[in-house]
Amino acid sequence: MESATQAELARHSMLREQLQRRGIHDRRVLAAMQRVPRERFIAASLGGLAYADRALAIDCGQTISQPYMVALMTESLELSGHQRVLEIGTGSGYQTAILAELARQVISIERHAELQRKAGVVLRQLGYEHVRLVVGDGTLGHASEAPYERILVTAGAAQCPPALIEQLADDGILVIPLGGGEGQVLQRLVKREGRAEWEALVSCRFVPLVGATDEV
Ligand code: SAH
Repeated sequence: MESATQAELARHSMLREQLQRRGIHDRRVLAAMQRVPRERFIAASLGGLAYADRALAIDCGQTISQPYMVALMTESLELSGHQRVLEIGTGSGYQTAILAELARQVISIERHAELQRKAGVVLRQLGYEHVRLVVGDGTLGHASEAPYERILVTAGAAQCPPALIEQLADDGILVIPLGGGEGQVLQRLVKREGRAEWEALVSCRFVPLVGATDEV
């Protein structure tokens, strides 16, 4: 019980110091970040860093994104609870949980089966029944359930995979980090009457999006 309270307090100070101070203001995003226990998505040995202002290592050489980046990406998607979201890069499943708090349905694709399995266990334990996890190559999207009102890519690519733009609904929003390893920029695309309008958000650093044609 006591540790639950400590985690709540740690989340509250994360909200104030890391998110609100840097301009995150969407009440729904802040409430979701207050609710979701980030400590459940990382190794027990890293528990003390659960609410630190940084990305952390997870299995398969991947990372759980920095809380601020999770909040910024989520806020940029302008979720109101009604949308279906496609996420590429489940990783730990933490971002998936935040999306699940704010969306009608989340479909999340991960290329590492081991990460997908672990994320699935935690997401089920936390009761997110409107989340579906898929193992596969997210650069191809998930055509069978397209179009999606929102798409979030949580790994960095040189270019946005064309399949994702095709599978985005009209008036939909897609967020993706683009650029080479050191020079990534978080980009937001809004699709209007079939045309993509791009907007640069902030510089960032994500692990690479590895598609079928890339080297592992
Ligand atoms: N949102 C996650 C971020 C994980 S890092 C979190 O905060 O925990 C990005 C993830 O994208 C990694 O788990 C990596 O394996 C996955 N990934 C990279 N390329 C992919 C692809 N083509 N399809 C699906 N997942 C991919």
